[in-house]
Amino acid sequence: MTSDFALSSPLVPRVSEKDAKALQYIEEITRNAATFQETVLAEILSRNANSEYLQRYKLGGATDRETFKLKLPLITYEDIKPDIQRMADGDRSAVLLASPISEFLKSSGTSSGEQKLFPSTQEELDRRHFQISLLRAVMNRCVPDLDKGKGLYFLFVRPETRTPGGLLVRPASNSMYKSDHFKTRLHDYTSPIEAILCADSFQSMYTHMLCGLLEREQVLRLGALFASGLLRAMRFLQIHWQALANDIETGTLNQKITDPSIRDCMARILKPRPELAELIRMECSEENWEGIIARIWPNTKYLDAIATGSMAQYIHLLDYYSGSLPIASMLYSSSECFFGLNLNPMCKTSEASYTIMPNMAYFEFLLHDPGSPASTSDFQPPKLVDLVDVEVGKEYEPIITNYTGLYRYKVGDILRVAGFHNASPHFHFVRRKDALLSIDYDKTDEADLQKAVENASRLLREFDTRILEYTSYAEKKTNPGHHVIYWEILVKDPANSPTDDVLKQCCLAMEESLDSAYREARVVDKTIGPLEIRLVKTGTFEELMDYAISRGASINQYKVARCVSSTSILKLLDSRVISKHFSPSLPHWTT
Ligand code: AMP
Repeated sequence: MTSDFALSSPLVPRVSEKDAKALQYIEEITRNAATFQETVLAEILSRNANSEYLQRYKLGGATDRETFKLKLPLITYEDIKPDIQRMADGDRSAVLLASPISEFLKSSGTSSGEQKLFPSTQEELDRRHFQISLLRAVMNRCVPDLDKGKGLYFLFVRPETRTPGGLLVRPASNSMYKSDHFKTRLHDYTSPIEAILCADSFQSMYTHMLCGLLEREQVLRLGALFASGLLRAMRFLQIHWQALANDIETGTLNQKITDPSIRDCMARILKPRPELAELIRMECSEENWEGIIARIWPNTKYLDAIATGSMAQYIHLLDYYSGSLPIASMLYSSSECFFGLNLNPMCKTSEASYTIMPNMAYFEFLLHDPGSPASTSDFQPPKLVDLVDVEVGKEYEPIITNYTGLYRYKVGDILRVAGFHNASPHFHFVRRKDALLSIDYDKTDEADLQKAVENASRLLREFDTRILEYTSYAEKKTNPGHHVIYWEILVKDPANSPTDDVLKQCCLAMEESLDSAYREARVVDKTIGPLEIRLVKTGTFEELMDYAISRGASINQYKVARCVSSTSILKLLDSRVISKHFSPSLPHWTT
């Protein structure tokens, strides 16, 4: 096992004392991962020994790993939903954990569409903040002089709600941006806190962009939580650059920005700057937006946004806008748990991996091997290993026991071990576990679907056409059922747009790249009909997001669902369809 960074190496840029301490801390916890894991588990179990949950499983105050593994089952959200509901309704007794909870963190729940609530405590939020503060030291080690400029970050909050029992419900990002810890980092950002905390996403985005343009030369990095957020910002600029340039020219704020705290704060910042307005007009009125980020923000050293998992499909578009600046996928975290940091953030995005922080929770790993009977049979005991015992190259689902009431909780992500940093493994994020599409015995997951879309998109290259967004639906009303893939495409030259024939070939290309179970069902059993592509109008996926946000989704966490089943969403999509195309023949199949 090797350490990826040596503090004493002559190749490492000089680090500040604060950064050196942070890096030293990462070294220490990853070197002693096994000890940290044992301590964390014992602490969680002893603190919560009197909780109803641990008493239900008759743990009897035990804090050792063996008893814990013997007595507690692996669970999913469904298993603790009634407990969480009681807590949400106002039961303040120690249902899942002994400490009083400060709020519920709301997950995006993208896999099942259901929004899940997870109890949280002030202590847990502090713990997460501390981990996030380590990221800065990791980044400073790779990119020098970041303190000489600022970050243009597109960060958003969403309205908060309360449970019937009066507890706050919000995404983890809200808690972060509203915390005192965050305030100490604000000098690093071009946006004022008023822009971040404004719940109206248009006003918030407008102000972020305006401030970022005003300080264009200071901007050293552009960021959002996820890659999709950065692309949304670029599309926003494409639509609103004229209004933004007017504000900059005249030094007055667009009347559409009505939030009084933003208006107050921008009144202090905005001054007429006609040359800057001219420059923005010149750059943005160009047909070609390739490399626009590097042209408007010439000192940008990298993009900071998660671009792994389902976000990987946005890499090529980000490359297009940025002129291929590095994309740092810095962390792997969820409402349930903060998992880890990317200790080598300037690596190729496709190689990004996250080192698990062994002080955040107790981690077990369930071997994910679709080919093995052990993972498909209910009669075999699941193959579980501890954090330090995972094997390089193998895939696992993380199972967490955290400080906030989850015991042996199945996270539903699939990770592949990339290697070890000291004794702590680092993982590639592979995908969400749940299969997306299934008509018969076939199961198409997110990664398969993405690969199929990528393959089909090659046929669009000669038409200078890109797939901007996609989602899918298992249409079972037809007989046989078939896969419907909704595409929103960007055609550069309408005179050379892909024909019906080409789009039919795209359907077939997708079928060709789906797995053998799909092709067997399609060719041999004939239980699946020809795959269908439905092209939708430009802007449909923006509408889909606005719809999700109006229904309570968070703009930060929002990810396009790669499969939809809700009638209202399907209705929206179908009302925007401009053409339909079916696979013209059967894909290949051999035994
Ligand atoms: P949420 O609880 O809504 O914040 O969603 C958490 C989920 O987002 C995780 O379980 C992952 O499926 C996904 N996610 C978080 N971080 C990453 C990452 N670095 N790469 C890919 N997917 C991620």
